[in-house]
Amino acid sequence: MTSPTSGYIGRFAPSPSGSLHFGSLVAAVGSFLDARAHEGRWLLRIEDVDTPRTVAGAAEGILATLARFGFEWDGELVWQSRRTAAYEAALDTLKAAGLAYPCACTRRELADQPLARDGSRRYPGTCRHGLPPGREGRAWRVRAEGVIRFDDAVQGEQVTDLAADAGDYVVRRADGLFAYQLAVVVDDADAGVTHVVRGADLLDSTARQIHLLGLLGKPAPAYAHLPLATNAAGEKLSKQTLARAVDEHPPQAALLAALRFLGQNPPDMLARAPLAEIWQWAQSHWSIAAVPHRHQAVASGFF
Ligand code: GLU
Repeated sequence: MTSPTSGYIGRFAPSPSGSLHFGSLVAAVGSFLDARAHEGRWLLRIEDVDTPRTVAGAAEGILATLARFGFEWDGELVWQSRRTAAYEAALDTLKAAGLAYPCACTRRELADQPLARDGSRRYPGTCRHGLPPGREGRAWRVRAEGVIRFDDAVQGEQVTDLAADAGDYVVRRADGLFAYQLAVVVDDADAGVTHVVRGADLLDSTARQIHLLGLLGKPAPAYAHLPLATNAAGEKLSKQTLARAVDEHPPQAALLAALRFLGQNPPDMLARAPLAEIWQWAQSHWSIAAVPHRHQAVASGFF
């Protein structure tokens, strides 16, 4: 293997809420190949910040699946559940600058607010200028305004008006856990991640993440959001849609299917090739420009 020498740092950041399914394999393959094609580093982080959604043994299962496919990551494996001090420090920075404020609103009180693009409720700013009399802070939110633009390597130019979309968003939840938006930004910044390649289900979170990086005085990475794998009904593969574990397939076949899904064009003669040969072909032929932006249905064996 060539030793990674360029400044590129990519990562794969699975949530241990189940086994690796075809959709997450696509994100792993895309982020890995983009890093290796740039002679970059590829980091691995287990996103277990949302402890109630973490399934016992899922992280170990994901690591075993990645090993079966022949993925090799650089540096130490990072667990979000061990990084609370770093998230705490980031929140303290935001509080000290007056950028974060406590919010007393309950989910029920916000239920009539319009939906943001990611399905959360747009925050009407109730606690922005102080808690209403007699109420106590539950969550912490950051003030979000302005327009965020970025050029996604797969999905093209994205423009989000933060106030019109989700409004002030949560960085520490009412249950005391740090929100995904804060954890991911702090982790990527601390690891020096330069390129985020992940599934397009996170496209709508990206403006908030760029905004939060700005508030923390950190540069934003480049982004590429890969098309989502769906079942025949157009639903994203997930635990809820009972997506199958990729382990049900020989890794060669699943890897070739992921490459085709990503618009790469592996030659037929690789169908019976060993895994190492498929990886070699994939690294030397990787083209992010060939990745389709539209979501695609996958063969029934994968869901
Ligand atoms: N943990 C997230 C997931 O499994 C990915 C987060 C990211 O790549 O930023 O969907």
